[in-house]
Amino acid sequence: LKGEPLGTARPVQIVVADEEEHSFLLQEAALERLLLREEVQDLNVVVVSVAGAFRKGKSFLLDFMLRYMYRQSPDSWVGGEEQPLTGFTWRGGCERETTGILAWSEVFVMEKPDGSKVAVLLMDTQGAFDSQSTIRECATLFALSTMTSSVQVYNLSQNLQEDDLQHLQVRSATLFIMLMVILCCQTLMFLVRDWSYPYEHPYGLEGGRSFLEKRLQVKPNQHEELQNVRKHIRSCFSNICCFLLPHPGLRVATNPHFDGRLKDIDDEFKKELLNLVPALLSPQNLVEKEIGGVKITCRDLVLYFKAYMKIYQGEELPHPKSMLQATAEANNLAAAAIAKDLYYKSMEQICGGDRPYISPSELERHHAELRQSSVWHFRSVKKMGGEEFCRRYQEQLEVELNEAYANFSKHNDGKNIFSAARTPATLFAVMFI
Ligand code: GDP
Ligand code: MG
Repeated sequence: LKGEPLGTARPVQIVVADEEEHSFLLQEAALERLLLREEVQDLNVVVVSVAGAFRKGKSFLLDFMLRYMYRQSPDSWVGGEEQPLTGFTWRGGCERETTGILAWSEVFVMEKPDGSKVAVLLMDTQGAFDSQSTIRECATLFALSTMTSSVQVYNLSQNLQEDDLQHLQVRSATLFIMLMVILCCQTLMFLVRDWSYPYEHPYGLEGGRSFLEKRLQVKPNQHEELQNVRKHIRSCFSNICCFLLPHPGLRVATNPHFDGRLKDIDDEFKKELLNLVPALLSPQNLVEKEIGGVKITCRDLVLYFKAYMKIYQGEELPHPKSMLQATAEANNLAAAAIAKDLYYKSMEQICGGDRPYISPSELERHHAELRQSSVWHFRSVKKMGGEEFCRRYQEQLEVELNEAYANFSKHNDGKNIFSAARTPATLFAVMFI
């Protein structure tokens, strides 16, 4: 049995908007605390993000997702009739209406049907899409969370509006061409809340599919820009789907004392919730995050976050070239970090703090061997950016391995009382003790 969501776990702000600077800040320490935990750092990561405007029921949905993740048994995950909702605290509490990305502090370890373990991170991305100045900000934020997630749930109210598609496109088609490069194999779900035309398109994924087909159709008489938006969306995501969710009932929408208990929620809504949440989170449906066709771990994700943040600092929307550059950079840094770690861990085994002194020539032999296999590892990982670009990172890796070796040797020498006595100063000291 797993724990209860409100132990010590809580939403943590990982990206905050700096309103004065019109930029975003990555809460690096917070992100690292989540993703660099021993149990998860080396697991492939699944990132499910729910993104959209404020007050549209994102947290409400996320809290049900948490119930699923903390489920006590496969059939009762949705909870008891009288149990208030907790988690992303969709009423009062710690979540203020700030633009940015929140993550659930507990990264879940789940087993896929093939027995492999993955780490699941839940994110809540929100911003106001209400004025010209915030649109750029939110488009940026949305792009950032899309680039770092494997499943983006775009939460929309009532209907898929024309301007929602416009935001996605961010008035810069090129941005999305790049997303296409980066995001192959990932999933986008349009989640339409308060769907009120079930007689036209039924609730759920099936209705969503026919609805989306219709909305993304490119018609010859459409404005060229709209045609482009649709084409890009279609080509960006190898897996686009849409889910039509009914209205949860007036008690949810209007009663100020509503605390999320099931008995106050319409049956129709609950029925669809039972399909929606497992469609996103059940072990067979988990989508691992891939970049450049390679699955990435929690540890890599930290590097990608850092690299992507860098390109979102200016006033302008990021240039596609810089996005690709940042991806390739993060890609190489991640590969180098892993290669270095391999070297480090093996050297620790041979000459770490608790190991006895070994002869310098033997140490050098180990170093040469491990260095070679570390570099070999780096080279064997599929990376972006091309041969020449990767070579720069390889050279940097080699420099760092040599530095690490120098430290290991110094340490090793320190263990040898005879070598310590070799310098005149210590010899002098030893004579007088
Ligand atoms: P968030 O700001 O997007 O995270 O929205 P919240 O989850 O905090 O919900 C905002 C309000 O909308 C709350 O009063 C919820 O009870 C209500 N709500 C939640 N889900 C829905 C929904 O599907 N439809 C409607 N109409 N209201 C909802
Ligand atoms: Mg919220």
